[in-house]
Amino acid sequence: MHNKGILNKIDNLLKRLFPIYRSLTGEGNRETLKILQEIIPLEIKEFNSGDKVFDWVIPDEYEIKSAWIKNEKGNRIIDFNNSNLHVVSYSTPVNKKMTFNELSKNLYYLDDIPDAIPYRTTYYSKDWGFCVNKKQFEILSEQKGKLHVFIDSEFNPKGNMTYGEFLIPGKSEKEILLSTYICHPSMANDNLSGFILTTLLADRLLENQSLRYSYRIIFVPETIGAIAYCAKNEKIMKNIDIGFILSTVGGPGKFGYKESWDANHRINKIINKVFIENNIDFVKYLFDPNGSDERQYSSPYFRINTPVISKDKFYEYKYYHTSLDNLDFVKPQFIIQSLELYSKVIDELEKEIIYKNIKNRCEVMLGRRNLYPSTGGSFLPDAENEINKLDIILWILNHCDGKSTLNDLEKKSNIKLEKLVEVSEELVENNLLERIIS
Ligand code: ZN
Repeated sequence: MHNKGILNKIDNLLKRLFPIYRSLTGEGNRETLKILQEIIPLEIKEFNSGDKVFDWVIPDEYEIKSAWIKNEKGNRIIDFNNSNLHVVSYSTPVNKKMTFNELSKNLYYLDDIPDAIPYRTTYYSKDWGFCVNKKQFEILSEQKGKLHVFIDSEFNPKGNMTYGEFLIPGKSEKEILLSTYICHPSMANDNLSGFILTTLLADRLLENQSLRYSYRIIFVPETIGAIAYCAKNEKIMKNIDIGFILSTVGGPGKFGYKESWDANHRINKIINKVFIENNIDFVKYLFDPNGSDERQYSSPYFRINTPVISKDKFYEYKYYHTSLDNLDFVKPQFIIQSLELYSKVIDELEKEIIYKNIKNRCEVMLGRRNLYPSTGGSFLPDAENEINKLDIILWILNHCDGKSTLNDLEKKSNIKLEKLVEVSEELVENNLLERIIS
């Protein structure tokens, strides 16, 4: 049914990228982006640790060489080499013998999913910790004598925070942002699936020679990466019309989409329409500032509408932020389904035509521009179009606010899209309209 080539490609990416240790910063993020570079021409870039970005500071570059917990006999009961979720991300170095009681304050496990190792981070407070499954927790608790706890980690204040970026230019300078995050260690749906999908979607867009929008594609660490990107690219951000956060798109569960901050924005209507027209069962989540980077991009200064289309959305699936969000849970065919869905949404966006009435304080005097019949009272429709040109002009001037599409006006007014475009272009020549995306 599906193209076997692309299935293999995704399978290969999942297997190569899953084991890599990623965090806010570090070599694993560079290695991840280098693998993606085999498919798309993304640039690997760095923010400097210590740089101020709005209210935040870029963190020191983090490295962890090894970590383990040994019992008195010297047997490793927990080893970072077996799972990179075992150590709380950004843990400070530790080399200490302690009782289980002392250790237990820094141990995390899940009562309700005993087989899973939870994922925890301590990015912004200096601390350390180990994450284990329930059985490992019990084994640790049964040990006689002291446990040797060891974390060999390093913070480099002269280091960097790595990200990936590239732009696919279209006919318009108006941009669509595809933003995904690369800071999670070995978990498949959150968010290995997200950056694999972003890569495949970008690869597809690169093949399209007739794009109208330009597409800006960024691979950043979540939160701090998006904030840093916005801070360093304020001007660019103002050119972005719509954004997508590509996250959790490869689970076996239902499709869903989280509305962008302005529920009435056309992108939400498009996504709804694509789901319905393709008979796809989906869950709709209302906008909520909790979540991923949508809250950065749609903060009051930027106000970019950034919906999240997902398949097993973050927070909602049982294995979220655990070691069971693995390659048994995420499958290449699920990512392909998300790819097809995203492609359809982008196809719809690419069909949209938007103009803006630039003399929009009440109605302009059309007569002065030879656009109004000089004899008042003559409002008969022209026989061919069943609607006269004056009415078409009035519809367009009333409708085009820079946000509403001519495609919607076609439905609203029953005037054919081609006719609307033809008259709109005439109004552009008369300096009454400007093209937003056409
Ligand atoms: Zn997450």
